[in-house]
Amino acid sequence: MDEEPERAKRWEGGYERTWEVLKEDESGSLKATVEEILYESKRKRVTQSHAQVRLGMMRHIYVVIDCSRSMEDQDLKPNRLTSTLKLMEGFIDEYFDQNPISQVGIITTKNKRAEKLTELAGNPKKHIAALKKAVDSSCVGEPSLYNSLSLAIQTLKHMPGHTSREILIILSSLTTCDPANIYELIKTLKSLKVRVSVIGLSAEVRVCTVLTRDTGGSYHVILDESHFKELLMLHVKPPPASFSSESSLIRMGFPQHTVASLSDQDVKPSFSMSHLDSSGGPALTLGGYFCPQCQAKYTELPVECKVCGLTLVSAPHLARSFHHLFPLQAFIESPAENYQQNRFCQACQGQLKDKNVFACPLCRSVFCGECDLFIHESLHCCPCCIHNRTAT
Ligand SMILES: [Zn+2]
Ligand SMILES: [Zn+2]
Ligand SMILES: [Zn+2]
Repeated sequence: MDEEPERAKRWEGGYERTWEVLKEDESGSLKATVEEILYESKRKRVTQSHAQVRLGMMRHIYVVIDCSRSMEDQDLKPNRLTSTLKLMEGFIDEYFDQNPISQVGIITTKNKRAEKLTELAGNPKKHIAALKKAVDSSCVGEPSLYNSLSLAIQTLKHMPGHTSREILIILSSLTTCDPANIYELIKTLKSLKVRVSVIGLSAEVRVCTVLTRDTGGSYHVILDESHFKELLMLHVKPPPASFSSESSLIRMGFPQHTVASLSDQDVKPSFSMSHLDSSGGPALTLGGYFCPQCQAKYTELPVECKVCGLTLVSAPHLARSFHHLFPLQAFIESPAENYQQNRFCQACQGQLKDKNVFACPLCRSVFCGECDLFIHESLHCCPCCIHNRTAT
């Protein structure tokens, strides 16, 4: 146990004396302080790390979901499996919103085996449909970390070196059934630069501590369902790229969606390349996206051309990833008394009632707390700066 890293366990850490933070106001109510605590936690999301770092924008992530017997536990409602799958749907949605040129695959593990629920792909619909279906599956036996990891590696090792390779494991069981020495596998993961993170549903497990530490991932154990959701959302933001990861210029194609007109007599429906390896769905269609290099047809973007290897994206996809690299500066927080003459929020036009207001460092416009959050989390640009730019 000597090599255990210097990481404080939750029970070793300082008391979080939340009851001492609570103070009664003149009327004996706790409402004001509770509101303040909620407010502080909201602010934290905005002020967190706005430093300039290299980010892994093209991500390939496999999510491993434990479907072993322990997923039937009912400490999450209605049980761990249903709750996990529900949260995963939200994760997939959010992930593709924030990482439009990335891909996800889902692996389930039970009964000492691991199998792919979905292949690595950039289409959220397919994953969400598979997750919805998986709710009815039975939870049996033990999970296998080894088999899940090696299944993920098989695909991830072929991904180009400039992309971020990640595995996220949602582990409920406290045991794993491995056919070989997992520490050897951890070495392989490390050499392939695969980052493995774990979210535990029960308690900390030694092998996961080593696994995440050696591969540069994170390891958390959930406290309750809302904490679970928060931990999942941590994996939505692109991770900083490791220094050793390659940089390269990427050729990209921007195909337009073309639909052959039905009146055209010569037009014939054609197969799309994305139906080669998947069954189901109509295979013959008229329209589609055609690779500008080799004319192979695809029904959806983004995708890597199976014929010539060109990355095909739509321009809006690329634009949406842009804000991660150049995040909007944090607004300057100051007490509302300083703004007596200007008592309305420039965004929602509401009266500035909060204790503090937020000013854009460039255009000096003042916003309320809610609008500040919205601007930094969703808009990613200051509406007044944009307005001034278009006006002049
Ligand atoms: Zn092509
Ligand atoms: Zn406002
Ligand atoms: Zn501004």
